[in-house]
Amino acid sequence: MDIVERFLAYTQINTTTDREKGAIGIMPSSSGQMVLAKHLEQELLALGLKDVQVSERAIVTATLLANTNKDIPIVAFFAHLDTSAEQKADTKAKIVTHTSSSICLNEALDIYLTEKEFPELAQYRGQDIVVTDGTSLLGADDKAAIAAIMDTLQFYKANPDIPHGTVKVAFLPDEEQGLRGAKAFDVESFGAQFGYTLDCCGIGEFVCENWNAGDAVVTFIGQSAHPMSAKGKLKNSLLMAHKFIAMLPPGEAPEYTEKREGYYWVKELSGNSAKTVLKLDIRDFCREGYKNRMAFLGKLAEQMNDLYGGVVIDLSDRYENVANSLQGGMSYPISIAQEAYQNCDIEMRQIPMRGGYDGAVLSQKGLPCPNLFTGAHNFHSIYEYLPVDSLKAASKVVQQIISTTHNKFNQ
Ligand SMILES: [Zn+2]
Repeated sequence: MDIVERFLAYTQINTTTDREKGAIGIMPSSSGQMVLAKHLEQELLALGLKDVQVSERAIVTATLLANTNKDIPIVAFFAHLDTSAEQKADTKAKIVTHTSSSICLNEALDIYLTEKEFPELAQYRGQDIVVTDGTSLLGADDKAAIAAIMDTLQFYKANPDIPHGTVKVAFLPDEEQGLRGAKAFDVESFGAQFGYTLDCCGIGEFVCENWNAGDAVVTFIGQSAHPMSAKGKLKNSLLMAHKFIAMLPPGEAPEYTEKREGYYWVKELSGNSAKTVLKLDIRDFCREGYKNRMAFLGKLAEQMNDLYGGVVIDLSDRYENVANSLQGGMSYPISIAQEAYQNCDIEMRQIPMRGGYDGAVLSQKGLPCPNLFTGAHNFHSIYEYLPVDSLKAASKVVQQIISTTHNKFNQ
């Protein structure tokens, strides 16, 4: 099957993640994810893969057995089944040739994808691009990745003489709500030595560093009082929280930072004079910097507690920078990817990812996992689009990684 047909077939299955169901621990959070998982199970069996499994949580795993006796490390490829809850409608994808400065997504609704608003679109002039009708997201995040991985497996079925080591694939649910599928994934029994997620954007992108990420929940307990008798009695927890926020380093917030600059993000503030809860996101590329930020918040809470009493902070780690797992002798997944991009004539653009992805969680669990491009742009939006040539390139890169891994270790 052609890779584009394959991708379009996946977009027909609505796999929008359901945050409410996810919040109460249901996985997969939406039934469409299981429908897609079962669909992929059939395709994997037809492609001759072994150990094809779909767990009750819609985690799909399968193995392409090595066709050589050499001791080649097992490489894995990951994609996620769900799509973002920002847009829930069924996807109506179409292929258009991009010939002018804009693409009409929906004439009746007057929705256009324009180079003015999205300048990177200009580099795809003359190319076929998969877009939506402007009423849904495309779901190339991350169905383009699934299509690229499956296309590679089809390539190896059609070319059994091309030598390769063992390759594992996994499709995970509910990435779009706290990387839940990756968190539930059993890395140890999966048995791969290294892997790659395909969850980046445009052709050439490559992620081998992202945030160290944590959360802080600060609870301020005050003392309520009737205004008649509030003087000297009322201890307003809302104002305590405001003091706390005022002591955060100015400018170290998402709206003032970029590239590798870390921040504190005041995410949520709720309460009354008796009790206020403040939630913050803490992000830093550098492990030391991350630790310092967490320690700073802890210290701040301690000092305020000494002053007013009733201040409790709960600090927790969310995910780690993948770079922490790719140091020294464990940097070979990066060099293999570099060689693979080069062999495909694709210029690699390393992006410090200001976010998390499944591979960050998998790396932390002991399976180092950089992130490859899918070729698509404008994730989570009605303007999401996927140039066909970029999708094909994503599949080529996966093939090249498998070949490069074989060649590198075939001594
Ligand atoms: Zn994604």
